[in-house]
Amino acid sequence: MSSEKIIIGLEIHVQLTSLKTKLFCNCSSNYRDMPPNTNVCPICLGLPGSLPVVNKEAVKKALLVALALNMKISNRVSWARKHYFYPDLPKNYQITQYEGKGVASIAREGYLEYYVDGNLKKARIRRINLEEDPGKIIYHTGSMLTSKYSLIDYNRSGVALLEIVTEPDFSSPKEVIAFLQELRSVLEYLEVADFNLEGSMRVDVNISIEGGSRVEVKNIGSISEIEAAILYEVARQRSLREKGIKIEMETRHWDQERKATVGTRTKETEEDYRYFPDPNLPPVEIEMDYLEGIAKEMPELPNAKRERLIKEYGLSSYLSYVITSNKKLAEYFEEVMKYTKIDGEKAAALIVNDLVGWIGQERIKDIGKLVPPAEMANLLELLRKGDISIKIAKETIPELVSGRKTTEVLLSRGWLGRISGKELDEIVERVMRENEKAVEDALRNPKAIQFLIGKVMEVTNKKADPKETYELIVKKIGELQKRTWSN
Ligand SMILES: [Zn+2]
Repeated sequence: MSSEKIIIGLEIHVQLTSLKTKLFCNCSSNYRDMPPNTNVCPICLGLPGSLPVVNKEAVKKALLVALALNMKISNRVSWARKHYFYPDLPKNYQITQYEGKGVASIAREGYLEYYVDGNLKKARIRRINLEEDPGKIIYHTGSMLTSKYSLIDYNRSGVALLEIVTEPDFSSPKEVIAFLQELRSVLEYLEVADFNLEGSMRVDVNISIEGGSRVEVKNIGSISEIEAAILYEVARQRSLREKGIKIEMETRHWDQERKATVGTRTKETEEDYRYFPDPNLPPVEIEMDYLEGIAKEMPELPNAKRERLIKEYGLSSYLSYVITSNKKLAEYFEEVMKYTKIDGEKAAALIVNDLVGWIGQERIKDIGKLVPPAEMANLLELLRKGDISIKIAKETIPELVSGRKTTEVLLSRGWLGRISGKELDEIVERVMRENEKAVEDALRNPKAIQFLIGKVMEVTNKKADPKETYELIVKKIGELQKRTWSN
């Protein structure tokens, strides 16, 4: 393997999926699962005479991201037309933003810190801007290269995209992936995007090896594909260099089926796009008061939460990192900790390794519904008190995921020690409700109490405290007798 430095920059396109409508019209921003070409109007179809109107919420979300990425924010945001022809773009231009004379995108010159193997890294963000998503080309069979024909669905056309452009600050796929994961969690914390939705993040990767031209690989849809595309492209460029062939500056396409980058067209230069201000859209003035209002809404971001969890719950930096990489998971952890005094690191380990292991990453968003925090805390509390072993706690978790309750699982498996107190009281109540006849007998003949004790023992797998069970039943029968007499 040769040792030239790899230089990577990213252009990340994130759909602002939390918006209700598209960037310049009232069509729904949720186009998924709709019949083709039903979520359209004259504006997003680019029909002559239609006039776009800026979605204020989209600007607000973009400003929130700009603040989170430590960026310099423009006080006057303008819109530009980027001209090019492609079937998914019926206007023949895309409304986007541009940095130039008299025109400015939302924000520039920011950074995001992220960790690789425990080392803090910093990637500079060149700029972010809002633009419209084009329609979607659907290949009849296979890919761009193999399909006989393609179809176009304009439902996506005009959905708000946030483009985030980094400086070429990455030198390995590992760094790129760690950065993208951090960026995703920041955007999830800000509630601007839901990355469980297909196509909500697409990345263009600019790759060069030291001294060579820059090659842009377009439109990669998932983090694992990004890694594959970078590795492929670096190997391709190195092999060209070894053969003495010049690496051309070009745009390539990632062919997911063949796991290879394929040349599509030579790279247009900025001039080719003939950017000019969109005459239909006046610039947006960003006032200081407005910006301050948005800053006040800023939630705690992953890095800050990470450090707080380490301090407050004694978490290791590793588990704190894993927990906070998903906002829902972090919230769940803190909710569970409200009900238990267990050591935070122990709780985090069981939640991350076992609970998430059983439910799977993609269901983390429903974690609190799948296993209520109080149930999880109940299990952890029993573990803390030494009533159950770590082995039993681990074996109980899949049962909780399937909807059972902690006590129920532990009792039915005979895993719990003595049952007493409030818990036993509830069981006695239930046994008495379910055995009316026996209760009536006991009211007349104290000896019949034995039957009820037997029932309680049966239900609890003989884990009920016998003395306490007897006393509870005697007391409750006594109360019932008093009530019967006073009637
Ligand atoms: Zn529309």
